[in-house]
Amino acid sequence: MSKTDFIECPICFSQAKIVSRDQTGYIESCTYDIIHCDKCDTSFVIPLEPNDDLYNFIYQNGEIISGYDRYYRYANKIKDEKNPIRWLTRQEEGYLGVFNTLKSISKNKNKKDLHMLEIGSGYGYLTYALNCAGYNILGVDISQTVVDYAIAQFGNNYQQMDIIEFSKSASEMYDVIIFMEVIEHIPNVMEFMSAVRKLLKKNGSMIISTPNKSAFPKETLWHTDWFPLHLWWFSEESIRRIGKTLNMNVNFYDMSKCFNASYALWKNQDYLTNLATPPYKFTLGGEKLSLQKQSEPEPLRPNTRSLLRRIISKIFEKLDTIQMMAGIMRLIRCKIQGYKRSSKPCCMMAILSKNFE
Ligand SMILES: [Zn+2]
Repeated sequence: MSKTDFIECPICFSQAKIVSRDQTGYIESCTYDIIHCDKCDTSFVIPLEPNDDLYNFIYQNGEIISGYDRYYRYANKIKDEKNPIRWLTRQEEGYLGVFNTLKSISKNKNKKDLHMLEIGSGYGYLTYALNCAGYNILGVDISQTVVDYAIAQFGNNYQQMDIIEFSKSASEMYDVIIFMEVIEHIPNVMEFMSAVRKLLKKNGSMIISTPNKSAFPKETLWHTDWFPLHLWWFSEESIRRIGKTLNMNVNFYDMSKCFNASYALWKNQDYLTNLATPPYKFTLGGEKLSLQKQSEPEPLRPNTRSLLRRIISKIFEKLDTIQMMAGIMRLIRCKIQGYKRSSKPCCMMAILSKNFE
């Protein structure tokens, strides 16, 4: 193996290996090499470059892009809910994790006294829901397009902000900084994490969520969203390493406690070691090439949206016990159909605290 097959891991600085070359992700004319670091079990791509046009396209067309359409739906539906945070925690396990973590951080404190920031607030619904629940939180996003959307939808609680730039002239401002499904999109992730750390007060904490590589067998090539949207696939060890470098205490929220945690399902090894084709392709300028799925990879979940289930979930979506039973039924059906299930939920939530000082 030649020297060029190795590259320094930006997380733990040991030698990481190129495990696959010239893979295309969302952009038809761009290819990426997939790198894996054995030491910290982190995968990333080279070049580590996002595509701004692609983000603009996705945010402007959120309702038709699979994976992002649910965010758009949450943003549109949440204002009709009497208890927005309770409703949101029932939609996805990550929001339940955030809410429970915040409850324990704010125990014995006045929620209003905690200064909080959500980075990558997107369409703005989580910041809105937490504000409704009495938290003092500001939503920021690098995209002016989504900030404008969030302000129009939920009011003046959002700002366009580049965190790395902002941190150059600010420090120790926030007790809690939340960023859900953000770090896997960021090229210079260590610089970003140091910037966030600088913005935390002395005993402050970050609450972060990201897809969990540790849920899959180690040989799995890339089972997270395609590049250049996701540039990284982090494991729990990756996050421990980042915490160590930043001199922060790392804890994981147990996502398996969430009744609607999502687990990956597969039938054969090819699913783990091959890359599926993205459902959409884009030109370099961020223009979408096709609205139809081009090929059908083996599904992450078997098709469980039967008409009956849709009707049941419509009627009973507000009852936790019914959702829990639906989860159990799904598990039984997977067993019968011969699917293997990931050992942990596909999403992880980590709490990085500055309380070493
Ligand atoms: Zn590493």
